[in-house]
This record gives sequence, structure tokens and C-alpha cells, in this order.
Amino acid sequence: MAGDRSAEILRRSSDIFPGGVNSPVRAFRGVGGNPVVAASGEGARIHDVDGREYVDYVLSWGPLVLGHAHPMVIDALDDAMRNGTSFGMPTELELELGELIRERMPHVEMLRFVSSGTEATMSAIRVARAFTARDTILKFDGCYHGHADSFLVRAGSGVATLGLPNSPGVPQSLAELTLTAPFNDIGATRDLAMRASGGLAAIIVEPIVGNSGFIAPVDGFLEGLRRIADETGALLVFDEVMTGFRIAPGGAKERFGVTADLTTLGKVIGGGLPAAAYGGRRDIMERIAPLGPVYQAGTLSGNPLAMAAGYATLTALTRDLHDRIEGRTRRLVEGLRNAARALEVPFTADHAGSMWGFFFHSGPVNDYETAKQSDVELFKRFFHAALERGVYLAPSAFEAGFVSAAHGDSEIDFTIDALEDAMRFARA
Ligand code: PMP
Repeated sequence: MAGDRSAEILRRSSDIFPGGVNSPVRAFRGVGGNPVVAASGEGARIHDVDGREYVDYVLSWGPLVLGHAHPMVIDALDDAMRNGTSFGMPTELELELGELIRERMPHVEMLRFVSSGTEATMSAIRVARAFTARDTILKFDGCYHGHADSFLVRAGSGVATLGLPNSPGVPQSLAELTLTAPFNDIGATRDLAMRASGGLAAIIVEPIVGNSGFIAPVDGFLEGLRRIADETGALLVFDEVMTGFRIAPGGAKERFGVTADLTTLGKVIGGGLPAAAYGGRRDIMERIAPLGPVYQAGTLSGNPLAMAAGYATLTALTRDLHDRIEGRTRRLVEGLRNAARALEVPFTADHAGSMWGFFFHSGPVNDYETAKQSDVELFKRFFHAALERGVYLAPSAFEAGFVSAAHGDSEIDFTIDALEDAMRFARA
């Protein structure tokens, strides 16, 4: 139940914002009920406008790897802000963050900062199309790459289905240039890649899917994509907007040993402010204006506040800290598996670094089709029971969760107990 203050804010918001929100999943349509209206966050916890407290596993959908209002980020923002909030000119701050990203991901030889993950993937595809002089791209069912027209496409029934827009407003002629294959199905991917008329410009993938729940690649899948790209002349694009600086300090390349031609980043690299980037092979990135002819620009790209927050975040996120957060994430996932086993609830859960997720399904879940067979009704009851017990999970059965540096052993213990109780309540 929404408290008085939340109810009032949600009522007024519904009159001015479609669905009362400025991004759809926030509206709780996936779980029913009223969204939590945030007032403040500190470390692992958020407070809503009615004074309730939650341990937060959404963390602004991934960016807050240090937790809310981390002192290093606040200090960096304070310093940057006093020097001016935006210039539309080159700054040393953007150089520092760019070089730091390349240090951790050396295959990102050149990059361009933008302000959202959507811009990053949209621009990566543009340069891939220009570089290969081809139009068609291939994505995977259940992967989300932002809301640019080319990505709002998923497979219909059958593997080799041509793209159909699943959002009105996407021109059919553009949707037809996006092919989709099931994640983890290398045979279907190969067939589509071989048959794509005119060849593929790019294969874009979340190296670990976070947008249909947490789905890891099976052994050999990413390697297989690399091979198909090499054989067909397509560029391999890893969309690491979510996985970047979450699944390993050096991202998917470090975790899986597979190198993408282009990489998109967002979330963590802005430390909670709007920053994202696309980058990769120098010979491809040299096609971007003003060095090359592929146009892409942004008034607030490389914004000093976003750069300062991102730099502070990545500086604090040492390998040692990454490993500590990963250890706590593992403990959380193991605790939940044990709870589900004891309660005989069908459940599968996994994590990579500080990114995690679960399905009410006996598993394994290797693709979106299987994810959709999980018990969503059970998830809805569980979600609300968790909320009542002070744990804020993503309000959808098809989203990954995150852990931050501020989630200490006590928060993890509290969460395992609360979620075990929520599971007991929800299965009844
Ligand atoms: N790619 C991936 C993998 C994402 O998870 C998201 C956002 N959840 C995006 C792209 C789009 O990023 P943004 O919301 O910043 O536009």
C-alpha cells in the first residue's frame, strides 16, 4: 500500500507523465500495485517519501556500484560543480575517464562519450553499418539495447523469423533490417548470418543477458559469435551497458576471453549521472565525425559532472573491491538457493561479479523462451512480500539485480532472512 505522501505524488504524476513515470518499468506494471516513491538513498539503503526503508538491489538499474551517495562521488561532484556544470568544450575530466576506461578495457582503443546507453548502442550500429557498408543487424531475443528503432524488435515464432516491430512507431522497413535469434543458439545464429541478404553489419549481444532476467552464455556461445562474425565480415558488438564493470573489472573480454570489435558502456561509467560510451577498434572509431564521415554529436556528451562521478566511481572500484562485492553477491545467491531448496520452491539463481538474478523455475534457463516459463505469479507475490520486509527488488520477473560496495555482510544476512520469509509467504 502506498503511504499518504506516495499516493499524493503518484496521483499528480499520473496526470502529467504517461503511466505516472519517466521510464516504463518504474510503474510496477510487471508486479502490480503502486511504485515506491524514492526520497533519499544512503549506501545500500533507500528511503521512500513515507519514511519506509529498503535494502536496494536495483541501484538505479545498475550504475550505483558503490551504493547511494558515496562520499567519494559526492566530493568529486562538489568539486566539479563549482567549476561549472557544462561547457560543450573539451575538458581534462573526460580525458581522465576515457583513459581509465581504456586502461581497464584495452580493446576499447578509441571511444566516444554520449549520455545514455540508448545513444551508445544506436551510434555503435550506425558506425558498424558505415564500416561494413551493410544494413542488416542481428540481435538476440530478450536482449535489450535501449529504445532506438532498430532494437525494438524481437523474434516472432520460429527461429528464422524476419523482424516485426514490437513497438508501434517503428517503421516496418527498418524493423526488417533487424534479425533476431534465440540467445545461446549458435546454430540458429549461424543460419541467419549466412542467409542475411547483403550480409550482416553487426551482431549485437549482451554478453550476459540482464534484460530478460539474468541469463549467462553457455560455454562456447560468445566464442561462436566471434567466429561467425569473422567468417561473415560482420562486426561483433558487446553491449556492456549493464555488464561493464559489473561482471569483471575488465568486462566480458576479461571474463570470457572473447574480444568484441565494438563495446557499448553506460550505467557504472557515469556513477549515477548520465554518461555512456561506445568504442572499440581504432580503424572503426576513426570513421566517426569529425575524423570520419559518420555523424554523431551531443550537447551534454562528456558532461563534467557525469565524468567526475564516473571517474570517482571507477577509481574506487579496484579489483580488490570488485572481488569483495562479488563474494557478497555469491553469498546472497547461495543463501537464496538454500532457502528455496529448503522450502521446495522451484528456483534457479546465478551471478557474475556483482550482477545477479533468479527465476522461479527449476532451470536451467538459457534463453528468453524458457525465462517466460518461470512462475511469474509467484514472483509477483514474492516481490511484494520482499518489499513489505524491507527489500527492494526490480519490479519485474525479467530483470537482473545488483549488489554494491555498501552491501555489507549484515545487509546480505538481513536480505537472505527476509527473502526466505517472503518465499515462504509467497508460495503458500
Ligand atoms: N543496453 C543495455 C544492455 C541496457 O541494459 C540498457 C538499459 N537498461 C540500455 C542499453 C539502454 O541504456 P539507457 O537506459 O541508458 O538508454
